[in-house]
Amino acid sequence: MFIGHFGAGFGAKKIDPKPSLGTLFLAAQFIDLLWPFFIILGIEKVEIVPGISAFNPLDFTYYPFSHSLFAVIVWAVAFFVVYFVIKKNFKSAMLLGLLVISHWVLDLIVHIPDLPIFPGGSVKVGFGLWNSIAGTIIVEGLIFIGGVYLYFKSTNAENKKGTFALWGLVIFLILIYVMNIIGPPPDSAQAIGYVGLSQWLIIAWGYWIDRNRKAV
Ligand SMILES: [Zn+2]
Repeated sequence: MFIGHFGAGFGAKKIDPKPSLGTLFLAAQFIDLLWPFFIILGIEKVEIVPGISAFNPLDFTYYPFSHSLFAVIVWAVAFFVVYFVIKKNFKSAMLLGLLVISHWVLDLIVHIPDLPIFPGGSVKVGFGLWNSIAGTIIVEGLIFIGGVYLYFKSTNAENKKGTFALWGLVIFLILIYVMNIIGPPPDSAQAIGYVGLSQWLIIAWGYWIDRNRKAV
């Protein structure tokens, strides 16, 4: 799942206007932002197996530190603690911790059974919506559109940048999503890692949008 996680980040603004959109993105996409580092360093493994599911050519053979249920709970608690220590806001810290966990729950819907429960454990789960291209696009698209709508309704642009930065990102994310669907599979695991790192730019973009919009 890709744009669905950003949809969750957008939509969370409706629940709590305090955290910046960049921080909401950071939480919702946190384990996918760590994952490229683990791939590049060789700590986690991914293989390219076109056809393993209809939607996604990647076989996530080993990613217990970013994507096991146990690990994601640890990351969520860590995110909660760091945010709470810095901002002293319990409600926002809770929301951000839950957003970190939301990533795993959304992944659970789409992934084929490759998500570990415990690092080192043999139980792997995933409901496999990726076996249906249409089903994936509909579910993920609805989450994304719903999230963008909630963010749009919860904030007002303070200037032109606040409008263009938001819609620019929405179009950019949709373009990446479409290219991923229609484009060829990636060349190598290392390439996936380096492309994955570029997602940090989307986090920065989130902060830029939020600085130019005001919660209503
Ligand atoms: Zn993920």
